[in-house]
Amino acid sequence: MNDREQVQRLIARTGALYEDGHYRYSSGLHGSVYVEKDRVLANVDVASKLCYRIAKHFFAEKIQVVTGPSMGGAMMAPFVAYYLEPKAISVYAEGERDNRYFRPSVVDMIAGKRVLVVEDVLDTGGSALRVIEAVERQGGEVVGVAAIWNRGNVTFRYPLFCLVEHLTYEPGECPICKAGNLPVETPPSLH
Ligand SMILES: [Zn+2]
Repeated sequence: MNDREQVQRLIARTGALYEDGHYRYSSGLHGSVYVEKDRVLANVDVASKLCYRIAKHFFAEKIQVVTGPSMGGAMMAPFVAYYLEPKAISVYAEGERDNRYFRPSVVDMIAGKRVLVVEDVLDTGGSALRVIEAVERQGGEVVGVAAIWNRGNVTFRYPLFCLVEHLTYEPGECPICKAGNLPVETPPSLH
C-alpha cells in the first residue's frame, strides 16, 4: 500500500470519505470525492497520524513555528509541531477569511523564525494565503505550506505538501456533469 492509499484508508476509518459522487465545493469547482473535514479532525488518533505525515515531510526543514488559521489549521498545528524534532511551537492566526493576524502576545514568537503554515482543506487557498501574509508582516520566514486536502488545484509561491489531491473541474468542463446521470450536490457542511 503506498502513502496515498494509507492516507485514504486512515480518512475512511473516520467514516468521512465519500467517493464516486458528484460534489460542488465552496470554490465552485466540481469533483467526485468529498472529505468531511470536521469529522476527520474530530478523530484525534487519525488527525495525529495525518499530522505526523506532514511533520515527516518537513522534517529536514528546521521548522521552528507551526501555524494555521482558526479553526481547522489551528487544530492541526499542535500535532504537527509535536512531531517535529526538535519540537516546534504552535500558534494560530485569528481573524476572518480575508483578514488574518497574530495577537500581540505571540508576535515575538514568529519574528525571525522558520514557519510552516498548515490548513485542513484548500479551496481557493485564500485563508492560508492571508496567514502567509500575516507571518511575513511579523518578519517570519515561511518555509512551506501543508494541507490535508487540496480540492481547488491551489498552489503558493512556497513549497506545498498535500496528503490528498484529486481532480477538480470547472463546472463547464466537469466529466460527471457531461455524463449526465448524477446530479451535482453541495455537501451538508458547505451549505
Ligand atoms: Zn459536475
